[in-house]
Amino acid sequence: DGEPTFSIIMVGASGDLAKKKIFPALFALYCEHCLPKNFTIFGYARSKMTDAELRTMVSRTLTCRIDKRENCNEKIEKFLKRCFYHSGQYDSEENFAELDKTLKEHEGGRVSNRLFYLSIPPNIFINVVKSASRSASSKNGWTRVIVEKPFGRDSESSAALTSGLKQYLDEDQIFRIDHYLGKELVENLSVLRFSNLIFEPLWSRKYIRNVQLIFSEDFGTEGRGGYFDHYGIIRDIMQNHLLQILALFAMETPASLDAEDIRNEKVKVLRSMRPLQLENVVIGQYKGHAKGGVTHLGYTDDKTVPEGSLTPTFAAAALFIDNARWDGVPFLMKAGKALHTKRAEIRVQFRHVPGNLYKQNFGTDREQATNELVIRVQPDEAIYLKINNKVPGLGMRLDRSNLNLLYSSRYSKEIPDAYERLLLDAIGGERRLFIRSDELDAAWNLFTPLLKELEEKKISPELYPYGSRGPVGAHYLASKYNVRWGDLSASDID
Ligand code: NAP
Repeated sequence: DGEPTFSIIMVGASGDLAKKKIFPALFALYCEHCLPKNFTIFGYARSKMTDAELRTMVSRTLTCRIDKRENCNEKIEKFLKRCFYHSGQYDSEENFAELDKTLKEHEGGRVSNRLFYLSIPPNIFINVVKSASRSASSKNGWTRVIVEKPFGRDSESSAALTSGLKQYLDEDQIFRIDHYLGKELVENLSVLRFSNLIFEPLWSRKYIRNVQLIFSEDFGTEGRGGYFDHYGIIRDIMQNHLLQILALFAMETPASLDAEDIRNEKVKVLRSMRPLQLENVVIGQYKGHAKGGVTHLGYTDDKTVPEGSLTPTFAAAALFIDNARWDGVPFLMKAGKALHTKRAEIRVQFRHVPGNLYKQNFGTDREQATNELVIRVQPDEAIYLKINNKVPGLGMRLDRSNLNLLYSSRYSKEIPDAYERLLLDAIGGERRLFIRSDELDAAWNLFTPLLKELEEKKISPELYPYGSRGPVGAHYLASKYNVRWGDLSASDID
């Protein structure tokens, strides 16, 4: 047929991310009939593997999510028949030329679109892009490249990476993934705000007291701290995932849902942010802890972590956007590993009701309760709004209740993985959820001076026990701005 062919080349196919996330996401898209008709998937890495070995490796991670009644094995078989493997070096134009030859055999002279997914360590990004763009880019269709974080570790290294990529690619060929942007509730943030009358009018310093962006994991590096130690939690989570959510949350109404309109608004937020001061940041590192007969090792007990490492596994920060909408509103970020719980959420705490008629009617030990909107990104996706409500009965006592939208109760369909959305968008050329280079620059400009200061002054992180609620310094930081962390309040529901 005359339809264009589509090839996705998984560079680093032998790795963890490819196995755990990318192949399963591609299979889910296949099951949903979202992949172009003439698609093929090529694994590329140095490891020697046959097509059959790749298929066996991939098949172990595939499950049929969409429709349990349909014959899953048959679908998996059909999908695997479209998967191939090509072994080669990352810096070899000859090896990529061989790949090109194989791709051409599959394409059979039709218009061919090629998507390279770089699921490899960042130090070889440029080598691959150089060799692939010279020897294996499409001659008659589009060629796009998906890049995974880390995009550098400060402004300079990020700029070097960007200019390296741009030697061989145009900006519109580069798709920088921040997989948080592919998460269902992060996508829904704009829907909630812009398609409901009751939220957007409140979305400013006039009614919002503070915004909290919280990420926690309930496990540590567990013997895989080598990569992490080079980056730390600020680079790993805050500078990208939490900051991206912040920018989406705080942006002005874009002119349209067009990618450039949205990214223009996000970058304006980032550029309006006040430089991060050391006094507005708390860092922590988990230490070993024994609980219920189980001993958890501390971060520096991890054999892959250098002895005496000062790398933060926890950080809290107060950020400010110096524009008319958000002047003076603290945006508090908190991210940590080895904490008591696993979650990612956005919390919006509203101001007090002025002259509240009912302030006497809360329990004696309660402060005047304010409204709080919680968007729980993961796990158990939910949106809930804390409101004050009369406790039923003859008296007049108020309590704080939740208007609760729990996704698992409301929607029967399983929520797609972030990688499915992002791959689908990259295939379709939709750039809205990918990071543009000026956004990336602005994000690094905000964090680089702080990161340098932390490292130059060798600031010691505050130790906190594995499985705890994190260092107490995070509470002091919040209380400096008259804020309490919502996730630690007794009235919060889970
Ligand atoms: P990985 O397993 O460490 O590496 C992927 C493949 O790259 C390996 O199978 C290996 O293939 C090749 N490789 C590894 N180290 C190399 C080196 N020093 N020089 C040349 N090639 C090397 O990484 P991953 O966990 O799949 O992640 C891939 C990329 O995504 C990384 O850049 C990572 O930072 C990023 N990322 C990962 C995750 C995750 O959940 N794992 C999440 C977000 C971002 P061959 O030896 O066969 O060539």
